[in-house]
Amino acid sequence: MKKLAVNITRLLLAATFILSGFVKAVDPLGTQYKIQDYLTAMGLHAYVPDFMTLAASVLLSAMEFILGICLLFAIKRHLVSKIVLALLAAMTLLTLWLALADPIHDCGCFGDALVLTNWQTFWKNVALLAAAIIVWKWPLDMGRLISESNQWIVMNYSAVFILVIIAGRSLYTLPQFDFRPYHVGADIREGWQRMMNGEDSPFTDFFIETLEDGEDITEQVLDAPGYTFLLVSPHLEQADDSQFDELNQIYDYCLDKGYPFYCLTASTGSAISHWREMTGAEYPFCQTDDITLKTMIRSNPGLMLMKDGQVIRKWSHNALPDETEFAGRLEDIELGHLPSDNVAQKILWILTWFVLPLVLLTIADRLWAWSQWLRSRKLKGPGKSSKHRENDNNPFNKEIIMRKKIVAGNWKMNMNLQDGIALAKELNETLKADKPNCGVVICTPFIHLASIAQFLDQDIIGLGAENCADKEKGAFTGEVSAEMVKSTGAQYVILGHSERREYYKETPEILKEKVLLAQKNGLKVIFCIGESLEEREAGKQNEVVKAELEGSVFNLSEEDFRKIVIAYEPIWAIGTGKTATAEQAEEIHAYIRSIIAEKYGQAVADDTTILYGGSCKASNAPELFAKPDIDGGLIGGASLKCADFKGIIDAWKK
Ligand code: PEP
Repeated sequence: MKKLAVNITRLLLAATFILSGFVKAVDPLGTQYKIQDYLTAMGLHAYVPDFMTLAASVLLSAMEFILGICLLFAIKRHLVSKIVLALLAAMTLLTLWLALADPIHDCGCFGDALVLTNWQTFWKNVALLAAAIIVWKWPLDMGRLISESNQWIVMNYSAVFILVIIAGRSLYTLPQFDFRPYHVGADIREGWQRMMNGEDSPFTDFFIETLEDGEDITEQVLDAPGYTFLLVSPHLEQADDSQFDELNQIYDYCLDKGYPFYCLTASTGSAISHWREMTGAEYPFCQTDDITLKTMIRSNPGLMLMKDGQVIRKWSHNALPDETEFAGRLEDIELGHLPSDNVAQKILWILTWFVLPLVLLTIADRLWAWSQWLRSRKLKGPGKSSKHRENDNNPFNKEIIMRKKIVAGNWKMNMNLQDGIALAKELNETLKADKPNCGVVICTPFIHLASIAQFLDQDIIGLGAENCADKEKGAFTGEVSAEMVKSTGAQYVILGHSERREYYKETPEILKEKVLLAQKNGLKVIFCIGESLEEREAGKQNEVVKAELEGSVFNLSEEDFRKIVIAYEPIWAIGTGKTATAEQAEEIHAYIRSIIAEKYGQAVADDTTILYGGSCKASNAPELFAKPDIDGGLIGGASLKCADFKGIIDAWKK
């Protein structure tokens, strides 16, 4: 139920962030104008240059979009949920101020695509903030759509898509989706007449006045039959004049064919004169409201073509049509008609080039995960994990059980070099002849490692040490560092064994260092936890194992924790011949898994191998290993004889 709530709210947030980021990125100039409105309302506009507000516009939209994608795919769940919460908390406060003080009438959270009142925006943010709190509280309950190793593809692909394809292209040409009243296809004449009749209309601020005497010629321009070109430049002093040649050619074309051509601007007389001098412009200039001009076209300058008062084409100054496209009268050529690409085609383009590749990647990733799951099931053997039967039946579920079954030997301080080599050789030959269906590891004294590594078939038997130093290197006489262990060819190390905790006073802090160094050197850690007899008798076993995990390994990132194998070893059962009953062991293993789930999420808990250790023998191993949360054993005494150890390994075959 909790998981369902987290995932519903996560999808709601994802959809909102993706939509809001996309509509802003599709119109970077519109978003920049909105940022400038905010700065003006705060009295800061004069201090922030335009290039910074434009950069902020693009980055803000991209950030929102990518956060939405991260929520959708459940990428970097801890970090993303924190950023989303912080962002929504700030936005809720900002929009409360907007709603109370009303310095801007539309907050602009969905660009021009969806205009909300300030109070509507505030309540929307309150709802999203509640959703963000839920996701922040239980980030790991967000089900992954893609495995960690492929997340970078989704993030980079989304970043390139939103920054280059959407924002960059919209800036260079014009917004690919135009949500403003002056979009291609809009009938300005009809809308303006409605306004004149006192009806509701988005064209209230649309007027055209002559420069010379301020005569209102709006009606004359809109009522002109046929084609009219409007060159739109809110401020000529900031306009890009590099395409003046093309503009003059289009004006010549209009003169030739008899089409009216006006330059609409809100610039001063001197700016207009300067523009004329610079570009040789001979077309007439008219005055229009600057906000209206910015709304009409997101380019300075931009060109708009109307036919009978209806917008049929818009061009950015970067993408003006060239003279070859003006071959004939507008009535007879493509330019004189509404473009053939409509909104549905643009959506299809996005689906094909953005959504489809991500869907295919997700399917490929899930199929890969499925094949891994099938492999792990083969390794684990059927019927051993009834607790997770539900997951077993659903390989597409993110909670695919990947954990390995392992039987690991701990030789402790036994056997000289020759005897150790002989035992390892015997085990090597035995398991080569009769392959185990679980992972097998032998952890030996340091002195054996390098020699055994020479001949051990490490595809069948992993090799590990029983300890390593808590220091990287230096004057620590008698110590062996993690790097040294690794250099022998070993892959594993046992840390936190109760004998080291008790006799060598290894504290959680020391063990924490050891774990970090072992992982830094590429060693897989078998981390031991377990309670003493007194603690068990006082019913404190759960408390003890929890504290041991919290003290040394719960500081690890999810990625690093995933590399840890836990060994639960009740101290009272080690070397005493007293085994915990299978039920006792299962109970505490299930508890350990539950606290891992609390800390790292159910998926990590399901993937963590938890071994049982303490007088485990061939006779009791099958019963212990049959328990759903027991994934194998850490074996002391019984690992010192090949036949005994093999008997335990074979418990996985029963
Ligand atoms: C051990 O010390 O890790 C252990 C489990 O020992 P034994 O199997 O001898 O009880």
